[in-house]
Amino acid sequence: MTALREQVAALQREKAELQLLLELTSEHSDSITEELRDLTQQLQKHATQLEVSSQVGQQMTSLLNLAELLPQVSKEIQTRFGYYYVGVWLLEGLREEVVLQASSQNHAQGLLIPGASLPLDADKSIVAHVCRTGQPYHTDDVRVSDEYLGIKELPDTRSELTLPLRLGYKFLGALDIQSEHEAAFTSEDVRLLQSLADQIAIAIRNAQLYAQIVQLNAELEDKVQERTQELETAYRRLELLDRNKSDFIQVVSHELRTPLTLIRGYSQLLLRKPLVQEDETYGQLADGIVAGANRLHEIVDTMLDMVKIDSQMLTLAVERLSLAELLASLHNKLNESLLQRNLTLMIADLDPLPWIEADPVSLDKVFTHLLTNAIKYTPDGGRITVSGRFLEMPEQTGGFVEIVIRDTGIGIAPEFQELIFTKFYQTGEVSLHSSGKTKFKGGGAGLGLSIARGLVEAHGGRIWVESAGHDEEICPGSQFHVVLPVSRAGA
Ligand code: ADP
Repeated sequence: MTALREQVAALQREKAELQLLLELTSEHSDSITEELRDLTQQLQKHATQLEVSSQVGQQMTSLLNLAELLPQVSKEIQTRFGYYYVGVWLLEGLREEVVLQASSQNHAQGLLIPGASLPLDADKSIVAHVCRTGQPYHTDDVRVSDEYLGIKELPDTRSELTLPLRLGYKFLGALDIQSEHEAAFTSEDVRLLQSLADQIAIAIRNAQLYAQIVQLNAELEDKVQERTQELETAYRRLELLDRNKSDFIQVVSHELRTPLTLIRGYSQLLLRKPLVQEDETYGQLADGIVAGANRLHEIVDTMLDMVKIDSQMLTLAVERLSLAELLASLHNKLNESLLQRNLTLMIADLDPLPWIEADPVSLDKVFTHLLTNAIKYTPDGGRITVSGRFLEMPEQTGGFVEIVIRDTGIGIAPEFQELIFTKFYQTGEVSLHSSGKTKFKGGGAGLGLSIARGLVEAHGGRIWVESAGHDEEICPGSQFHVVLPVSRAGA
């Protein structure tokens, strides 16, 4: 019996111990569960914060427009983290004031309007304080903060975290976050929000740089447009001037032609008069008039040629011709000038060249201009050679013929080798030119090469010059190349 009682007592003790243990365990498990719940909540909050922070960061880097970026940044931080108010302030006006760029709050009573500004040296303002010092400012209870200004639009603010927006040592402004709860910002929050503020600073800088580039681009475009317009106006004015000049030349040359023809006719009549033929002085005078009238006639004809080329009124009377014959006849025509100037003209055997389809009058003019130039720009005793070759081109009907006129003259500087083919272009000082058709450096109207190019191109050919440069002592010489199609079908 005693043993049974003892056993029951032992069992009861054991039960009491177990109960105590059970009570202890369940008490402990509650606190563990609570701790676990707390930890899980913290972890969850942290994970959400991290996720939000990374999403906000991503959105920011894709926005390059400040006007879009800052409202979005403040809204995202305020709504996603559930704060009372978030504002972005930037330093402006030579960094003497801070201006609210964008804000977001969880209530609609008295919205803070972007554009509000604060002097940087304001006595009471957490934002001005942060922008001045470049240091974060954190208060768990704004009511005890010396820096807190307090504004009527945010009556419920209890704690505030203001972070500098900085890029290295450069402060751009501040990110101001307010909560209606006391001590709302843990040290973890501060760390996370500061890293977000650093990303915002980079995004702001990117957007500012982008805005600068856009502005620069716009300014450049404006400038280009302005210059293009100026150029167009100048071009139109030049076109008009050119047209006026061509019209003037056309009128003058037409007007000159008739009296010139009369002078030429009458002076030739005069030459035949016995009185003039018998008197040496009269004869010389009449010869002079005839020569002068002929030269003037040539000049007027050259001007008319130019007008025709310019106004595209040129018509070619094409026939099959031999360049060998054409150049030989020119040789005869120029013999007197060559003799006067003691120059040798050597024309290579051009008979093997194919006959070409071209306008003989035009080509006569082309080679006359080139040969008289060669005479004019080669000092006495020099040499002019003409050579030719056939250029066979399988894909071109008939191929081309190339004629090269070489002289041992003063040559042409590279910078003028294209310009001399423009009308009225003459190198050197025009007033220093001596007059006379074939005198050394004799002046002309500056039209010869321009007409030659116009006529050659009208045949579908090409003309250009090669020269080692201009030197009146060494005389490097020039080579004028003329390439003409053999048949009109090849032009
Ligand atoms: P111009 O009536 O002045 O001869 P051109 O149009 O025939 O006009 O020639 C233009 C300019 O080209 C000349 O003023 C001259 O300076 C240069 N030029 C032409 N041919 C030669 C040449 N064979 N050697 C050197 N310079 C030349």
